[in-house]
Amino acid sequence: MSNELLPCPFCGGEGRIMTALDHHAKAMRFCTTCTSCRADMYHWVNTEAEAIAAWNRRYVCLDKNGDKVFAGDQVKCCGAEGSIVRFGCGHVLERDGTIYQILSGEIELIKEPEDDN
Ligand SMILES: [Zn+2]
Repeated sequence: MSNELLPCPFCGGEGRIMTALDHHAKAMRFCTTCTSCRADMYHWVNTEAEAIAAWNRRYVCLDKNGDKVFAGDQVKCCGAEGSIVRFGCGHVLERDGTIYQILSGEIELIKEPEDDN
């Protein structure tokens, strides 16, 4: 099957496609979420295939030095420190329960996550 979801980029958990009826458009919408850490896509999309493709796409995020940063990295952005927790059209920083959308180039990498291996 081509609808296989990759493991969650943040925790390695299992992805699951959710559907919801968009009453305004009178159409179904799709979003993939992690069943373990609840990471999800930033936007709902129009087809299941789009939800799979978006989930399986691994975004590259660069800090202000042009170095790659990854999900779970501790970063500083616009004065706020936190870790990268979501992905989609933009990377999202969580700090003290507040979600910030951040843009490439604004990010200063503070600390990479500990490698368990
Ligand atoms: Zn997860």
